[in-house]
Amino acid sequence: MSIVSQLDRLKDRLSSSDRMPVVFLGHGSPMNAIEDTAYSRGWSELGRSLPRPQAILVVSAHWMTHGSTLVDVSALPKTIHDFYGFPDELYAQQYPAKGDPALAREVVSLLASHHAQEDDTWGLDHGAWTVLKFLYPEADVPVFQLSIDMAADLPQHIEIGRALSALRDRGVLILGSGNVVHNLRAMRWGGQPQDFALEFDALFADRLEARDLAPLADRAGLGALLRMAHPSLDHYLPALTIAGASDARDSLSFMNNSIDLGTVSMRSFVFHA
Ligand code: ZN
Repeated sequence: MSIVSQLDRLKDRLSSSDRMPVVFLGHGSPMNAIEDTAYSRGWSELGRSLPRPQAILVVSAHWMTHGSTLVDVSALPKTIHDFYGFPDELYAQQYPAKGDPALAREVVSLLASHHAQEDDTWGLDHGAWTVLKFLYPEADVPVFQLSIDMAADLPQHIEIGRALSALRDRGVLILGSGNVVHNLRAMRWGGQPQDFALEFDALFADRLEARDLAPLADRAGLGALLRMAHPSLDHYLPALTIAGASDARDSLSFMNNSIDLGTVSMRSFVFHA
């Protein structure tokens, strides 16, 4: 199914329910922020389809912490250009949305059992702003980030999503940004998808469809396939948190389903009431 027809189907299915959807976006290359790609067009379309949130909480692959989950409580989160060797135009990008310090502090309390702490030094990294720029181009919805604790076990990232899911009823859009498959060592420029990338991507989608999340957080069960799909787990963890924020009442839609550069799955998904 083409990316455009996937989105048409999603638009038909997004209802005006008061409960906000939860969204995971495969972000891929930062260049998507300044290029007109099928992916960035997909993000724009999605932004027009989503109910307007009161605030956005972003779980990005690019804010890694060890032993704690940090929540950015700053009033004016800065745009972080956390990449090297890209064109000047990309470094000139700004996403001037406000933060939401009061809500961010509530999230710290909500995640107390996950060693959550306040932070006011981060801002919006490229996992956040390169996609937000298309979802909400006016930057007029308050946004704040949550870090990923690299020391926490995979099931804990699902649990964090469960704990956050109550915010959906308060108009908060929980947005994950990473990639379902992300192996930069085995990339193939302009090449066909690697077999392990197709296999992990399909397995992930299949378990998500079945609402069977435990196998996706079973490091031993996933074994070598997980290590190939994610030599480092940073781009995977936000997908687990977003899956954890879903519940049995939600419908699931996929978009941007394709493998970029042989090893980067751009598969994105939306759970909606
Ligand atoms: Zn990334």
